[in-house]
Amino acid sequence: MALTSLKVLSASILVFSKDVSIMDTVSEIFNKVRGEGRKFLLETEAKVVCMEYSIPVTKFKLAKNEAEAVKFAEEIGYPVVLKIVSPEVIHKSDVGGVIINLRNKKDVRNAYKKILGNVRKHKADAKIVGMLVQEMAPSSTEVIVGAIKDPQFGQALMFGLGGIFVEILKDVTFRIAPIKEEEAREMITEVKAYPLLKGYRNQPPADIDVIVKILLNTSKLVMDHQEIKELDLNPIMVYEKGAKTVDARIVLE
Ligand code: ADP
Ligand code: MG
Repeated sequence: MALTSLKVLSASILVFSKDVSIMDTVSEIFNKVRGEGRKFLLETEAKVVCMEYSIPVTKFKLAKNEAEAVKFAEEIGYPVVLKIVSPEVIHKSDVGGVIINLRNKKDVRNAYKKILGNVRKHKADAKIVGMLVQEMAPSSTEVIVGAIKDPQFGQALMFGLGGIFVEILKDVTFRIAPIKEEEAREMITEVKAYPLLKGYRNQPPADIDVIVKILLNTSKLVMDHQEIKELDLNPIMVYEKGAKTVDARIVLE
């Protein structure tokens, strides 16, 4: 009896201390961002926050120069994507700051120079933190998970399928956080594009359970951190098994 309760106690201490360390890492990132007078997290920072909450993201490394970008590309494995990391570039592809499908060293070197040139053209003195070398996520069904803090209702979660479904058809659904598993499942099934996730023609069904997990973990993240004003995981590539968040954006109050 005593042994059992001891086990329960030590297990709950473990869970508790794990939660505390997650909060610490994420709070540390947020403090650093605010300390630098920023509201927007860099993609690297936003993805570390996601990883702390077990939200799957593409593998990435931050290169400080061209040689390092090549080295990291070899480590990650081709094809890779290069992306600018700068506090002054929020929409990276708008300024030519993203080049995908790089298949070898030469591609990486060329893309590195091209992106720096593009960003300099956009803003000659833009502060550049580095170049993100990222695993190229195979294309698949794209979904979007978002959160927005409403002054009245607090944190609200959003779900939809990517591309035209969100942008043109506005086929999205919302719930006030925190949500339970049942609500996460409802969010997924109630969008009009849901049949696409169930699979059609020769398209296999998408991993619904992983989307549920991402929704629940996002709910926990924004509840733990009320200082998050907006969060966008867009797009998330969902596969038959597993998913990968390709771009993550977090804005603080
Ligand atoms: P931004 O939204 O800041 O312009 P993203 O990181 O979203 O930049 O990149 C733009 C687009 O490039 C994405 O929407 C996606 O289509 C593609 N992309 C970016 N990173 C990857 C990746 N790792 N794997 C596959 N496609 C990617
Ligand atoms: Mg994006």
